[in-house]
Amino acid sequence: MTYRIAMDFAILFLVTGLFLVLVLMRIRTGSIAEEYENRAEALIYEMQKGTADEEQLEDACDFLRVVSKENRETVYLAGEEPGKLALGKWYFIKEKDELQVFVRQKLSVVLYGSECSAEFVFECTQEWNVMRRELIFFSLWYLGVAAAAVFVCYVLVRAVLRPIDEMSRQVSRLNLQNLHKERLNEEGSKAELKELAEGINGMLDRMEQAYDAQKQFVSEASHELRTPITVLQGYSSMLKRWGAEDKEVLAESIDAIESEAKSMQDLVEKLLFLSRHERRKLPFAKERFDMAEVIGELEKEMVYMTSTRNMRCSVCEPVRVYGDKQALKQAIRVFLDNAVKYTEEGDTITLSCRNKNGACEITIEDTGLGMKREDLEGIFGRFFRADTVRGKNIEGHGLGLSIARLIIDGHAGKIAVRTQYTKGSCFTVTIPRQRGV
Ligand code: ADP
Repeated sequence: MTYRIAMDFAILFLVTGLFLVLVLMRIRTGSIAEEYENRAEALIYEMQKGTADEEQLEDACDFLRVVSKENRETVYLAGEEPGKLALGKWYFIKEKDELQVFVRQKLSVVLYGSECSAEFVFECTQEWNVMRRELIFFSLWYLGVAAAAVFVCYVLVRAVLRPIDEMSRQVSRLNLQNLHKERLNEEGSKAELKELAEGINGMLDRMEQAYDAQKQFVSEASHELRTPITVLQGYSSMLKRWGAEDKEVLAESIDAIESEAKSMQDLVEKLLFLSRHERRKLPFAKERFDMAEVIGELEKEMVYMTSTRNMRCSVCEPVRVYGDKQALKQAIRVFLDNAVKYTEEGDTITLSCRNKNGACEITIEDTGLGMKREDLEGIFGRFFRADTVRGKNIEGHGLGLSIARLIIDGHAGKIAVRTQYTKGSCFTVTIPRQRGV
């Protein structure tokens, strides 16, 4: 980049220099021509007065021709016209390796009583050579100054761009393998660049975190999928060996395969939901609806599914909610499923829906296992399962609450949890009233 900027400067200086030389040349040739025009006028004046004799005229100019405008006859001729190589009013003649330069001046005059055109040619090789020397001197001087300026510019630009060059080298070295250890050097940078380096480093930190989270997610998802696959493999090889003859083994295997397949389907659906959300492809189809209806439907569903728990709906006030009915139902179902999973026979699950000044407050309370204080922090994280439930052979992948939270967040809602280990838990979901919708 530094070279390119220096080259651009050099080209700019050269073009400017060329332009200056042309302007200088124009000025100097103009002044030479003007000087000879004055001389021609002085000679004409003397001819008009009759004081200029032929010899004097031949000395004063190299060629003179006076032509009458009336009959185009030459009235006066002195000297010999130089060769034909002419450029405007200039003649350039090369003689014995030496360039001779002449200038021509044409004047309209009244001579010998009639209108004439007088054409003078003067040799001006000397003046031309002086001008040439001046221009060469100027060009050399200019080239020297330009070279010094380009050098200074190169040094300055290099000093300014060095940290940026260094930064771009560091950035180009970055890849997924060294993302966790490579960072831009923030020290030694100037204030503005330091801010830029800090900004890029911040971005790299966030990228690293997102990448790690993604890696963690993939590894945990694979781990979760491994268990049901192993179980399926186990039962299929058991069936192969004894299944056909042993009716008991056959029945047990079919039940296990069915349940593991269901568990896998549930896991895959949850993973798909999360990955779609990750790619921000989770559009909510929002509408106005009465949450009491949804709660009524869910209560019926739960009563039908669990006959061993006391399932009741304490309050069910009508409350209009603006949101995705199916998604919100799915979220509340997560809390209800958990309430069933983490309670035992005879425990009570209480569901309520309240209208709090237009906001909708839903509570799902159970008298089950409850949670330890230290587990509360993690329950909304992906694949989190409290140690208190891990050994208990309770179905689950630790994804339900994180999905529920995504949906509630998407409706600007809040989730509060109250719990006591061995006594039970209470989840409260609040969906705010959406004004102006
Ligand atoms: P899963 O229930 O599939 O393990 P969730 O994300 O729904 O996953 O819940 C995460 C964890 O939170 C559970 O494993 C459990 O430890 C705890 N948890 C959630 N709901 C309850 C509840 N009602 N009672 C006790 N623990 C709960």
